[in-house]
Amino acid sequence: MIWDAYISLQGWSDNDTPITNKCPIKKQCAADILTIFSDHCTVKFCHENGKVEELKRRWCNVCKDDKKYVQKHTKWKAFHVSSNLLCRQHIQSHYALYKEHCRELVLTEHHHAMPRKIVKANTEVLKGSQQTLDGVFQRAAPKEFSQESVLKAVAEFVVCDDQSLLVASNASFRNCLVAMRPKSITADFPSTHDVSVYIHTDFVKYMDGL
Ligand SMILES: [Zn+2]
Repeated sequence: MIWDAYISLQGWSDNDTPITNKCPIKKQCAADILTIFSDHCTVKFCHENGKVEELKRRWCNVCKDDKKYVQKHTKWKAFHVSSNLLCRQHIQSHYALYKEHCRELVLTEHHHAMPRKIVKANTEVLKGSQQTLDGVFQRAAPKEFSQESVLKAVAEFVVCDDQSLLVASNASFRNCLVAMRPKSITADFPSTHDVSVYIHTDFVKYMDGL
């Protein structure tokens, strides 16, 4: 762009103040960008020949307020194209500040705004914790029948499969259990109340352990 070079050579015009701001309502999905960038704004540039040009972009507030940066690159370089992706890629260079602002404002950091090495490290941590959870959920198969193991298995079926508590007392369900162990008696099967109490107790234990 010809005038891009021109602006770089000539420095910033006095008419660089935003003249419009047509996005008063900030989209929630871009809220993290606003921790570093301004909202979209239209800025008027004056060429040497008097021609006035308007451009709608976002200011990087950090670069714009950095005197050394402006001296070296001109203020123009702090006026970025409006693409959220490109803005977030630029935020990577201000990540420490972005992270701090997101924490203060209780915003979720966008992965595009994170430096690649941090994204990679987070992925590794996630993989590691997943393996740990996999280990937690590996259960040894019961070797012999017990009322407790049936109660536990039915409770897990209710919770993990989002089944109704009433399934424990369902005749067809009990017939399935009897088919697997014909000599079972009624007392071997947990009632809906038993399952409800078991789930509640197990949940309380889990919460206490956190
Ligand atoms: Zn910047």
